[in-house]
Amino acid sequence: MSGIEVKNVSVVYGAGTPFEKRALDNVSINFGEDRVVGLIGHTGSGKSTIANLITRMYDVVSGSITIDGVDIKDIEMNSLRRNVAIVSQEVYIFRGTILDNIRYAKPEATREEVVAAAKAANAHDFILRMPEGYDTMVGIGSRSLSGGERQRVSIARALLLNPSLLILDEATAAMDTETERLISEAIDRVSEGKTTISIAHRLSTLKNCNYLMAIDNGELAEMGTAEELMEKKGIYYKLWTLQNEQLQKVMEGR
Ligand code: ADP
Repeated sequence: MSGIEVKNVSVVYGAGTPFEKRALDNVSINFGEDRVVGLIGHTGSGKSTIANLITRMYDVVSGSITIDGVDIKDIEMNSLRRNVAIVSQEVYIFRGTILDNIRYAKPEATREEVVAAAKAANAHDFILRMPEGYDTMVGIGSRSLSGGERQRVSIARALLLNPSLLILDEATAAMDTETERLISEAIDRVSEGKTTISIAHRLSTLKNCNYLMAIDNGELAEMGTAEELMEKKGIYYKLWTLQNEQLQKVMEGR
């Protein structure tokens, strides 16, 4: 069995407290190799929880997750970090140079490798505009990075790492069209030929997915291609219609 298999996984946050919340309910999903799978669903449906379990931010209490047939609990954290990369705006930026921040994924990378990765991530230009280029200090107490810049730092890290699995957790924060274009171009480069799970908070980020899975209230509710799900007139169709209506309102200035 290759790829990632999520089997009968349930997650309850804050079990036994008044805030108890069942985030996933007996979910089984198979993410095959070399495919881009889009996870869709309303906010709070459980999409990010799936990503957090795969990266072992939280451990599975019931059910199991395997990568290429091996239970992730039996994979060393170091090895897991080398094989799974997350691209998001919520990346960890520590106080240090932007060079070291990108190199965090692969400490032995040379300056040339970091620059090449930053170029492919469309981060090179904004880095050169900073006062000391790659040697500019960033992070707490020094220069902060915008959401779009953070996302490109995380793409550069993923390019350096060249992991077998990529998780794209795209934020909802609005970005200008040019930044969106630069990010989407960089994402195409980093996800090429890799098993990719794309968590879509907006449907416009799904254009490269081969397959979609809709999570609803902690359960896997639909799966198929975008065309199949449109015909089904279920969750994907509803989300699509809703977002189109909102777009229409913006365009008409309503
Ligand atoms: P999505 O990514 O689809 O927006 P999440 O996986 O982030 O959804 O969240 C699923 C549900 O679990 C939501 O109701 C959310 O409020 C809750 N949740 C997520 N993380 C935590 C946490 N650390 N503690 C308590 N509840 C959480």
